[in-house]
Amino acid sequence: MNIHEYQAKQLLAQYGVSVPPGEVCDTPEAAKKIAEGLFAKGETLVVVKSQIHAGGRGKGTFKSGFQGGVKLCKTADDVYEKAKAMLGNVLVTKQTGPEGRLVSKLLVAGAPEIKKEFYCAVLLDRASSRPIMMVSTEGGVDIEEVAEKSPEKIVKETIDPAVGMMPYQARKLAGALGLKGDLIGSAAKLLLGVYKTWWECDAAMVEINPLCIIVGSDGKETLSAVDAKVSMDDNALYRHKNIQEMRDLAEEAPLEIEASKHGLNYIKLDGSIACLVNGAGLAMSTMDIIQHFGGNPANFLDVGGGASKDQVTAAFKIILSDPSVKGILVNIFGGIMDCDVIATGIVAAVKETGLKLPLVVRLEGNNVDAGKKTLAESGLSLITGDTMADAAQKVVKAVGV
Ligand code: ADP
Ligand code: MG
Repeated sequence: MNIHEYQAKQLLAQYGVSVPPGEVCDTPEAAKKIAEGLFAKGETLVVVKSQIHAGGRGKGTFKSGFQGGVKLCKTADDVYEKAKAMLGNVLVTKQTGPEGRLVSKLLVAGAPEIKKEFYCAVLLDRASSRPIMMVSTEGGVDIEEVAEKSPEKIVKETIDPAVGMMPYQARKLAGALGLKGDLIGSAAKLLLGVYKTWWECDAAMVEINPLCIIVGSDGKETLSAVDAKVSMDDNALYRHKNIQEMRDLAEEAPLEIEASKHGLNYIKLDGSIACLVNGAGLAMSTMDIIQHFGGNPANFLDVGGGASKDQVTAAFKIILSDPSVKGILVNIFGGIMDCDVIATGIVAAVKETGLKLPLVVRLEGNNVDAGKKTLAESGLSLITGDTMADAAQKVVKAVGV
């Protein structure tokens, strides 16, 4: 699960990471009011930031033609104008795809003078099976590009999860950023706070881009997390009621929300062959075998170990509401599940949805003979496959890729 920048900053602030002062709002009037408060407290510049679950907002363009989802303003009236131009409009960035995202919330925050921009992230390193913190002097830009063109500019520190991040590691990273004097201590404190946020919240990733050297009103330089992204490890969400409440359904794909209501695990993909499978491992290998025979999966759909007839019908409806689906492959191994329940569900779903697309079914396992009999006696024109390879080849052929 992803959360918004303003929420990520709330979490970071709880763990002692300094972030520019700011508040979230959903009307231009409220944006103006927050800005007035910030100016009254001595801020000389305020930033209006579109809150969507995608990066690249600064360089994004609204469908209305308005440029930039992150805007600096010198007056509260300007904040009002910029907020008006952003709210209720669709922002297209490098990360949103051409359809863009509707902006319905804004973060209005103080915009201190930025001296330098860095990058910082904490995530799990699969190679060492440990958390790592990565930093780079190349902040504020696309980190993938840095990784590709100048990987030596990304410095990593592996963390022992049993003891957590050590202060010397934080100072080492601060040194790698070229920081000197007081800034080393200030950066080390901030980096330890970033790691703590990642660890305590069970995040999958915490990314600060840019992490900035800012100049305070007293002329003193400090560090501040100017942008923040936190994505959660969903398996641990049950431990964090406060973070569960941060979920923004408007940012999630409608079909994925519908699927989660029925206890189905659905992820939309770009291809044309829909898969309905029980078990995540079987779903993965089904997608692989479709690709192997030249097709492309339209989704990942796991109906789980004990799917009911209603779940199968819901799964079919979800699959069919994706217009790029040209054929369906049902691949079920009845371990816990009774193949006949699935077969009955398929027959009911096909009748209820008036399915016209080619449907290939491969059933194996518990009560498979009864299941095959149900399918054969249904009078439906479906194609059966005996093995996974056979079924995959048949569906690829049926959609004509
Ligand atoms: P995104 O990564 O989605 O483009 P950012 O929050 O990183 O959004 O904003 C883009 C750029 O806008 C930043 O790299 C920074 O240069 C500038 N910016 C963002 N927030 C501030 C701020 N508080 N003060 C000054 N500049 C800012
Ligand atoms: Mg950013």
